[in-house]
Amino acid sequence: MTHLHIETELHPTPAQRAVLARQQETASALWRVLARQALADRHGLNLPLVTLWHGAAHSISAHVGPPVTRTKAQRLAEVRALARDLGWSRELGTASLDDLVAEFSRHVRHGEIRPDRPDDHHLLLGPLARPLWPLEVEVGGLETPVAAALYTLPAAARSAVSTWRSAFIGRLDAEWSRLLPAGHHDSGTDAALLSHLARWAHVHRTSPTSHPPPCPVVTLTLREDTRLRWDRGGSRAWLVWCFRIDDVAAPRTRGLVGADPGITNLWTAWGAASSAVFPNPMRPGSWRLPPWAGPQGDLCRPWAAELARVQRDAVLVTRLLHPAQHGAEVHLLNHEHLALEEPDLARFMQLRAEYGPWAAWSGATVQHRYIAAVARVARRVVLIPARDAATSTCSTCHARGSMRYRRRAGRCRVCGANHDRDLNAAANIYRLGLARL
Ligand SMILES: [Zn+2]
Repeated sequence: MTHLHIETELHPTPAQRAVLARQQETASALWRVLARQALADRHGLNLPLVTLWHGAAHSISAHVGPPVTRTKAQRLAEVRALARDLGWSRELGTASLDDLVAEFSRHVRHGEIRPDRPDDHHLLLGPLARPLWPLEVEVGGLETPVAAALYTLPAAARSAVSTWRSAFIGRLDAEWSRLLPAGHHDSGTDAALLSHLARWAHVHRTSPTSHPPPCPVVTLTLREDTRLRWDRGGSRAWLVWCFRIDDVAAPRTRGLVGADPGITNLWTAWGAASSAVFPNPMRPGSWRLPPWAGPQGDLCRPWAAELARVQRDAVLVTRLLHPAQHGAEVHLLNHEHLALEEPDLARFMQLRAEYGPWAAWSGATVQHRYIAAVARVARRVVLIPARDAATSTCSTCHARGSMRYRRRAGRCRVCGANHDRDLNAAANIYRLGLARL
């Protein structure tokens, strides 16, 4: 079984941000306490987690006796008891706690007691993260949905999310039908009906009417295995969705394709027999990211402005970019072998300042990583390091750093060949890929 992880950024309101940050802080504090307990165990001091949590000071520097052995199950039982006492069920679900203990126990088993939660441990939300509709997700512990740009997901992932959502709304509808006939008669079921409506009415209301078409190349299923990731500074948060790859269609084109991602052209592909260019319908110059202006009049709800911005982006990306992105995705993944520039786009973004915000806004970074990830499991893929600078090498004489460009058109200082910037890069990626296959 192969899984694929795709990240989408969250856009929480300040209040939501505070709750999300608190979840992270609680998880980190719990990790630190577990580490102190494990350290005490090593010194033969058997200290209950609850005592350590409440801050009882113990000096655990001096060796006291033979080490205490504590199993993962024992740790789990202590953490769950603590969670019950402190009422964590709303903030940190069982899945998060169990996963944190499992990760901690893995470290201890390898003889390593880390005092702090590792940076790469993302909080497991499991089914507590739900993609409600293309602009919002529900995250456990938060009372209102969080804005998230799910519309930037690649076609196959959007389709999987849509299938998951209709199954979920189907479950809500079934619950609604069950509660409705009984609701008027007895106060208990009426309360259940009211709480169902209070929680889910907006999901019923905003349930989408149309499904995105399935992707002809890849079939994915959304798993309820979502994680919450923060950047190092703790200022930006992402949900890491987990998809199972159910099927990848056989490639329709034999041989290798080399692909260069970009901003003027979303992708430029170079194969043995032909090349293909997928122009960006929203490239800078032909189109500008509209500046955000607050709507006229009063806003009743403080999150409405952020949501409106995400909604505007969704409309533009869906109408203009999706068709081009989808065409490129199908073209590339229909090849047997794929050569791509390393999809670590940090350097690329430094070189071309305008690329960063545009790529994040349009989901282009998600597309690049997604194509590389699918190719990794289903195709032979060669990743060309960005330092090999495909753009500045001449694809005719292969002299490095020899290309001089004026806008799109370039000329080689060594052999005098004329090349289009993107086609030259794609041809170089193709050649480097062929050499490494
Ligand atoms: Zn040349």
